[in-house]
Amino acid sequence: MTDRNDELFDEARRVIPGGVNSPVRAYGSVGGSPRFLASARGPYVTDAAGREYVDLVASWGPALLGHAEPEVVEAVREAASRGLSFGAPTEGEVELAELIAGRVVSGERRPVDRVRLVSTGTEATMTAIRLARGYTGRDLLIKFAGHYHGHSDGLLAAAGSGVATLALPGSAGVPAPIAAQTLVLPYNDLSAVEEAFAVHGDRIAAIIVEAAAANMGVVPPLPGYNAALADLAHSHGALLILDEVLTGFRVHPAGFWGLQQELGETYLPDLFTFGKVVGGGMPLAALGGRADVMDALAPVGPVYQAGTLSGNPLSVAAGLATLRLATPEVYDRVDAAASAVADALAGALDIAGVTHTVPRAGSLFGLAFRDEVPTTYAEAQDQESWRYAPFFHAMLDAGVSLPPSVFEAWFLTAAHDEEALGRVVGALPRAARAAAEA
Ligand code: PMP
Repeated sequence: MTDRNDELFDEARRVIPGGVNSPVRAYGSVGGSPRFLASARGPYVTDAAGREYVDLVASWGPALLGHAEPEVVEAVREAASRGLSFGAPTEGEVELAELIAGRVVSGERRPVDRVRLVSTGTEATMTAIRLARGYTGRDLLIKFAGHYHGHSDGLLAAAGSGVATLALPGSAGVPAPIAAQTLVLPYNDLSAVEEAFAVHGDRIAAIIVEAAAANMGVVPPLPGYNAALADLAHSHGALLILDEVLTGFRVHPAGFWGLQQELGETYLPDLFTFGKVVGGGMPLAALGGRADVMDALAPVGPVYQAGTLSGNPLSVAAGLATLRLATPEVYDRVDAAASAVADALAGALDIAGVTHTVPRAGSLFGLAFRDEVPTTYAEAQDQESWRYAPFFHAMLDAGVSLPPSVFEAWFLTAAHDEEALGRVVGALPRAARAAAEA
């Protein structure tokens, strides 16, 4: 049976490569036509055939408050009425930078003195690594296998997200000399980092790490790991870039870093990257950090970065409204909703006799068809991933939209109420049986 989604997918593939504007949307690893979405509200999305789903993708993270939160939409509408883009500084940008710097705080620790706004997470990490190189005068970068930091040349080696879903080693089109500037190390393995510094110590500009890995499924950092990375970087004159594009303002008011500070793991990254929630669903991302490092950016310093649409007034309005509404109670609601779904998921898979683990990093969680929480990319890949497609489609048939890859986190929002959660929980037993039979 074909429906409007199938028709649109056929049409899309004639004019858009693979029919999508970002690879994982194509349902490549689960099969079938992606749902072309027409609208979204609260915890629900509606497809082109008029069918509604409880959404556990949340636009891959931004929709912390739920879709089309009325105050956020009104803020964007009001901003639009004053002009779509100026290419000049605005008062809103200053407020948003102050809000970000003021939230990423833990006691006396205030690691964000300056903030620059950009349009995507890719730009934020790309700029952060250029800045780290310009500031230190060194070229090499350490990244970890299975971590995704956007699609700039130097960051695609052994990357997570769509690169993991499509089982690619990296990307064609990245010149070998550029790829050679990135040292890819196994995650959660401090001896690998020590060894890299022992061999290349005075040539390493920075370590970039996802605050908690969530682009190869969820693979939390081992206790003390992020703090040890900061120590290792600093003792060798390198910087630590904490990539909070996905986790920032999603798992805690002060990001995953804030959550770790609260739990007693104290460390100071030199640079942070933010995206997703910080733009409230509009194209906006940011980098922030220590004044002396950030002031190496043009026009103060010699590291160039720019953008016609940087700090776009509609995006800034959405970000400001979202962060102002993201109170501690919102995080409590998201945590509770995530626990309800994660526990029901584990329970349903237990009953169906499916080998699984549900790794968590704050309110982020994922599903892996293996019996232990993975700690590395190799372990994340070592699972019965073929069970995901039938599981995913059983949920979709029951009106629940999951990320179309086992290598992605599930996202809850503050709008997932009893009714929406009930639909998810009610759909799980049948999907778990479908996974068992695969
Ligand atoms: N860093 C991380 C940790 C991410 O999860 C992502 C996107 N999922 C990015 C960077 C890139 O962000 P964007 O897609 O906005 O370019």
